[in-house]
Parts: sequence; structure tokens; C-alpha cells
Amino acid sequence: MTDKKNNTETLLQHVKAMSSVLDNIGAYVYSKDLTGKYTYVNADVAALFQMPAQDIIGKDDSHFFDLNVLDELLINDRQVISDKVSLVFEENNLIKSTGKVHTYKVIKNPIFNDTGDIIGLSGISTDITAQKALEADNQNQRHLLDVVLNNVDAYIYMKDAKRRYRYVNSRVAELIGLPAEEIIGKLDSEVVPQKYAEHFWQNDKVVFERNEKVVMNETLEDSDEKIHHYLSTKVPFQLKGDLQTMIAFSTDVTELYQLKEKFEQLANTDDLTGIYNRRYFFENANREFKRAKRHQQSLAVISLDVDHFKAVNDQYGHPIGDQVLIKIAQLITPTIRTEDIFARIGGEEFSILLPNITKNKSLQAAERLRELLDKNPILIHNNIKLPIKISLGVSVIKASDNYFQDLYARSDTALYKAKSHGRNHVYLID
Ligand code: GH3
Ligand code: MG
Ligand code: MG
Repeated sequence: MTDKKNNTETLLQHVKAMSSVLDNIGAYVYSKDLTGKYTYVNADVAALFQMPAQDIIGKDDSHFFDLNVLDELLINDRQVISDKVSLVFEENNLIKSTGKVHTYKVIKNPIFNDTGDIIGLSGISTDITAQKALEADNQNQRHLLDVVLNNVDAYIYMKDAKRRYRYVNSRVAELIGLPAEEIIGKLDSEVVPQKYAEHFWQNDKVVFERNEKVVMNETLEDSDEKIHHYLSTKVPFQLKGDLQTMIAFSTDVTELYQLKEKFEQLANTDDLTGIYNRRYFFENANREFKRAKRHQQSLAVISLDVDHFKAVNDQYGHPIGDQVLIKIAQLITPTIRTEDIFARIGGEEFSILLPNITKNKSLQAAERLRELLDKNPILIHNNIKLPIKISLGVSVIKASDNYFQDLYARSDTALYKAKSHGRNHVYLID
């Protein structure tokens, strides 16, 4: 008798302990019979339905959910009862007491009696509404980011310190020639030809070495062997608990680069003759002068001026005079060494800068030019050949020269002397 009483008390204590556990589990726990009436609900369910637990027992879900709008829970219950197995669902329910739809992760289990017949089901539901909203939010953000990154006119990629791509936008994927998902996670050497991979890495690793934003120009040949120029900004990007990474933004500036080169070339070129202009001549002459001084190398200047050119203009007109100047430049250009700079200084006056040349050799070069013009009359319209002569002044760098101008002034004086010696002459001033 006492034993039986003890057993009952132990059992009661067990039930109390169990319901305390279930009331504090942080999920909705319930059981229903085969007609859908509740046989057990924990405290969370009672709180959700805003009704004491004992009043819920015996009632079905039509009291608590708007099943006309959302009947997912009925369908799920029926499936567990007909399949007689535990099932996991994501369930959307419209709760009458609040009028709100909530999303639950639900595990539903069939309940069997001693003889193995199904008599109902039990369920545990966790509210994942907030988590789902967050996920949707994240997904929207990711989508937005994808749209932006794939439509911006730049090559964008993320690479880690072990040379593995962590992200590439669609422009980079196109450039590499593989879908983005086949590039992400791979080493650069696995998806890019070895020579380019190495080239990229040399530039990328600067960011890891300096651990700061780097802006650089990059040059790359495309598959058609066309040279492309990129302006790239690369920034370190540290992911929590991950390898060091960097993000690169590269813009194709090939057209701009070509324009810049064209402008530079225009700025250095004489309009009329197409040879170098005065600006380019003196810019380089000053540099060459300093270099020659530093390395104690030679440097010579030949200044040349067309003899009696005014007479050409007077007799044939200015446009023919222009043609003559062009032809003089064309005649001289092939005789110029690659290291020399041949420029039109102004009017009918030209200069040649000759690095690394002896006094005798520069004198010989000037003499050859005088002869070249002397022996080659310039052909103008109507088959007229004009006997164009030139005078040349030569000077060579001296230890006492401080500026290029010192050297240049001597060649100018030498030219003046050549003129006064009757023109069609070469004169050198030591
Ligand atoms: P020399 O040098 O032998 O003393 O006589 P010159 O007649 O050549 O010398 P001068 O300096 O008196 O005249 C140079 C002429 O060159 C004057 C100018 O009309 C002409 N000239 C200067 N620039 C140009 C040009 O771009 N085109 C043409 N057609 N003529 C030019
Ligand atoms: Mg002249
Ligand atoms: Mg002149």
C-alpha cells in the first residue's frame, strides 16, 4: 500500500518536473488526438493563444488559427498521421489572437498506443519569423550588392594572401573566361595563365606587404594581343578570423591612356615638319647635359640655319617655303642616329643634340649634312629644283659649362661665324 502511494508520488513528481521542463523549453510544445483536439499544451502555447492551458485542451486549431487563410498546419498534421513518421516542416500560421502570420520550424511526431495504433501527434514549434525576415533582408542586400558590382564599369575582385579568389564580379569572370562560381575559391594560377597570374600577384601582393590602400597603373595584353591599361585601387580587407584579404577595383583606361600619349606626342612635335619641336629639344637637352656632366660623357650640338631662305619665300611664296622646310627635315631625318634629337627650333632653324660623340665625329656629321643639302637640290612644283644650302655651327661640352645653355650658345655663335664665312659652311667653337 505504501509502495503504491510512493510510486504514484514519484510519478507525479516526474510529471511536474517534465511539465516544468516543457514550460521553459523556449518552444511551443503540444499534442493532439486524431480529431485534432489538443490533449496537451505547454505554457508557451497557452501564452500564444492567450488562454489557460486547461481551456485549450479539447479544442481544435480552428479556435486559434485562421485556417481559411492558411491551412498549412492541418495539411502537415494529416501527413504525419497518414505517413505515421516524424516529419519536419516550415509552417506559416495566421494566429487569431494577434492577427499576424508567423513562420515556425516544426517537428511533428506520431503518438502510438501500446498496441501500436496511432492515437495522435505531438509537436514542437519554434518561431523563426524574425530569423526568416533577417535572412530575406540579407538576401536582398546580397542581391543589391550583386547588381551594383556586376553593373559597375570596373573589374572588381577579392583575393586572399594565399592567392585564392574570394570574389569576382561578372566583368572579371568575362575577362578570365570562366563563370564566377568556377573562379571563386580557386588560386589565381588555377584559372589564369601562369604568366598573367604571376603578373597579377606581383601587383596584388603590394597591398599585403604595405597593408594600406594602393593606387597603381597596370598594363595587360588581352587575348587579341591588344595592350590594355588599367587604373587600379587595391585595399586591404580583413574578414574576422580569416586570412588577410584585399579588394581590387580596376578601370580600363586604355582610351584615356592613348589620348594622353597622343597629346604628349603632339606637345613634342613640330606642326609643320613632324620632327621634334623646340620644347622637346630643350627639355631633353637639359637632361642629357646633366647626365653627360655626371658621367663625364661627351655631348655635342649642331645648330643649322637655311641660307638666304627669305629669298625662297620672296620668289615662290610662303607655302612653297613651307614645303622646302618639310623636305629639308625629310632629307636629314634618316641620317640621324637613334640617340640623337633632331628638332626644329623655329623658323628655318634646326638643332641636333648628339650624346656620346667626339668633337671630330660631330664635325664630320655636320659636314655630311652640309654636303647632303649641297648635293640634293629640293624639288618643288613644276619640276623646279631649288639649290638649298645650309650653314652649321657645332659645339661640344666643356668642363667649364654649367648649363646646357652655355653649350648651346656656342653652337649659335659658331653658326653665326659659318654665315659670316660665306654661308654653306660648318664652323666649330671649342
Ligand atoms: P640667312 O639665314 O642666310 O642669313 O638668310 P635668311 O633669309 O635665311 O635669314 P632671315 O632670318 O633674314 O630670314 C629667315 C626667313 O625665314 C624669314 C621668314 O620669312 C622665313 N620663315 C621663318 N619661318 C618660316 C616658316 O615657317 N615658313 C616659311 N615659309 N618661312 C619662314
Ligand atoms: Mg636663314
Ligand atoms: Mg634664321
